[in-house]
Amino acid sequence: MASAASRVQEARIELYRRKGKIHARETRGRWNSLRWAMVWLTQIVFYGGCWLSWERGGQVQQAVLFDIAGRKFHLFGLTLWPQDALLLAIMLIVAAAALFLATALAGRVFCGFACPQTVYTAIFAWVEARVEGDHLARAKLDAAPLSVRKAALRATKHGVWALIAGWTAISFVGYFTPIRELLPALAGLQLGPWEGFWLLFYGSFTYVQAGLAREAVCQHMCPYSRFQGVMVDRHTRNASYDAARGEPRRAGRRDGACVDCGICVQVCPTGIDIRDGLQYQCINCGLCADACDTVMAKLGAPAGLVRFASEAELAGERVAAGLRPRVWVYGALAVAFTVAGLWLLVERPLLRVDVLRDRGTLLRETQDGQVENGYTLNVANLLEAPRRLAVAVEGLGGAQIVGERVFRAGAGSVTPLRVTVAMPAGGGLSGVQALRFVVTDEGDGATRVVEPSTFILP
Ligand code: SF4
Ligand code: SF4
Repeated sequence: MASAASRVQEARIELYRRKGKIHARETRGRWNSLRWAMVWLTQIVFYGGCWLSWERGGQVQQAVLFDIAGRKFHLFGLTLWPQDALLLAIMLIVAAAALFLATALAGRVFCGFACPQTVYTAIFAWVEARVEGDHLARAKLDAAPLSVRKAALRATKHGVWALIAGWTAISFVGYFTPIRELLPALAGLQLGPWEGFWLLFYGSFTYVQAGLAREAVCQHMCPYSRFQGVMVDRHTRNASYDAARGEPRRAGRRDGACVDCGICVQVCPTGIDIRDGLQYQCINCGLCADACDTVMAKLGAPAGLVRFASEAELAGERVAAGLRPRVWVYGALAVAFTVAGLWLLVERPLLRVDVLRDRGTLLRETQDGQVENGYTLNVANLLEAPRRLAVAVEGLGGAQIVGERVFRAGAGSVTPLRVTVAMPAGGGLSGVQALRFVVTDEGDGATRVVEPSTFILP
């Protein structure tokens, strides 16, 4: 039997799937239940989210829609515009800080329970087990020569995988093109090039990543597995083997608690042996802990030979998992940016005005002794309801709007308003003069935007 040290060495020199295809054994237990609860939760949210509706501007529309062409993100009653890019950046920072916090506390726990790669791999592996049988049957089928039965099983498995990948792609694209328009377009083969490309790309991506590449993505492609090492320390709770209790392991004898049954290795989706210590391939899914608890229960021994534990805990040190500076720093960052994001969200202006002077003609002199300047006011009404807007000028004596002064701005739209300002010539002023445009919502009377500009006199 190879020593632990030699096994660690073997693990270190493995570069890419030296062991061949992994046929993980299915197991039961609390971590497996939690994992499946996360699969259900994430997939109900993902597959169901694009079907939810929300009343917006008097119309019932898709509740969650990333409208790239319209440059708007709709999240239920909230509409985010390109002007809200800072808010999106803050959301990403909060997500990153929360991920760092989870990693500092429990290692790659996100990988094991919530990462889309893990979730879809679990779904695809479940289908495989239902079609081809348990881990032994699958290994036998792999080794068997091609036969009608093998071809039928493989075709069934790949067919179901393709259906899941296809529906996943439709749901994904349905967050960018309203799904109730996407499905009829797909049925009538009238997809636009953008939708067609992303359906094919995301469907193939899901199929290859979850069906074929599987744990290789976690081991060799995921950058997070490489840099998560800087976020963990000896107080981080990872799936761990209690070597002090388990060793010396011996099949058939009970020197240590580990009976060397190897079931913890058989259930591991990444094909590693938890008894070799902390390894970057481990996604902290806890299945080895479930498997070992089952073995211990059959032997009448206490559970927890493999469990979520920190290095410090296993070394018998006092556990201070929550009192480390990195936990406080990541937690404080997440809270601070959440508060900043909420403040920005509440305070963000829902009426924005951008004043552009007419480039072609700087000024016009009329026959009745007036000087006129032309402007375009790009009014962004970020409210999901139409507004009546009154436009006025101030700050330059004698200047006033000529013609129409009240405009309608559609719900959630950017409306260009053509405005002419006039003032009498020869009033003692010349050249470039400052003035301000005032845009007021006639509906509430309180929403008011003041935007500086200039007026040019001869
Ligand atoms: S499942 Fe438990 S007893 Fe069996 S080999 Fe793994 S650690 Fe040892
Ligand atoms: S070693 Fe255990 S926790 Fe880590 S990936 Fe394998 S089964 Fe999951």
